[in-house]
Amino acid sequence: MANLDGTDDSLKNDRINHIAISDCEKLLQKKVEAEKKKIRGLVIDKRGLASPLASEESTQISLQYIREQRDGLNKHRESLLNRVPKRESWAIFSLNSIEDKDLAYLSASTGDEFALLRGKKQDILYRGNSLHCHIEKDELLMNLLEGHKICLECHSHPDYGTIVPSQDDRDFIASFGQKSSRIVSSYTGKVITFHANRFDDLYKQEDVKNE
Ligand SMILES: [Zn+2]
Repeated sequence: MANLDGTDDSLKNDRINHIAISDCEKLLQKKVEAEKKKIRGLVIDKRGLASPLASEESTQISLQYIREQRDGLNKHRESLLNRVPKRESWAIFSLNSIEDKDLAYLSASTGDEFALLRGKKQDILYRGNSLHCHIEKDELLMNLLEGHKICLECHSHPDYGTIVPSQDDRDFIASFGQKSSRIVSSYTGKVITFHANRFDDLYKQEDVKNE
C-alpha cells in the first residue's frame, strides 16, 4: 500500500526489520567476540597461573623417569657426566654452563650427590658419593675456596619433602667464610638457600615474606 509521501508501508517495515536484524546480528557478533575474548583471557590466565606448578610437576616426573631409567639424560647433562665418570672427581666448565637443576638430574641418574662450584670465569662440577660431597678432602678445591677464588653455589640432596641442610653443610661453608649456598632436591628439583648460621635461614625467609 502506497502512502502519501510515496513510500510503501511494507517497504518501511522491511527496512525496519532489516535494521533490526542487522542490529541484532551486530549485537550477537559483539557478544560472540566478547565471549571469545573471555575464553582467550581465561586460557591465558589459566596457563599463566598453572605454569609454575605444571613445570614443578613435570620436573619431578622427568626426574623420576631418569631415576627409574625409563628415560636418559639430555645431551648437555650426558656430556657433563662424561667428564666426571668417577666418584670424588671434578671437572672445569665454562662459566654459567651448569644450572642447579642439572645437579638434580645427574643425581637422579647416578644416585650420587653433585656440587656446583663457581669462580669468576668457570664452573666446576664435583661428583660425590651416594651420601656426601667430600669436597674438604680435595686440597686444590679447598685452596680455591679458602682463597675465595670459587664458592660453593649448590649441591644436591636426595630429600623428598623438606630439603634439610646438614650441620656439616653449614660448618663446611662457614669454614671458608661463605655465608650462604643452595641445595637442590634430586627428587623434586626444588631449590632452597641455606646459611652458615642456621638462624639466618629463618630471618632471611622472613625478609622475603615482608618484601
Ligand atoms: Zn648437604
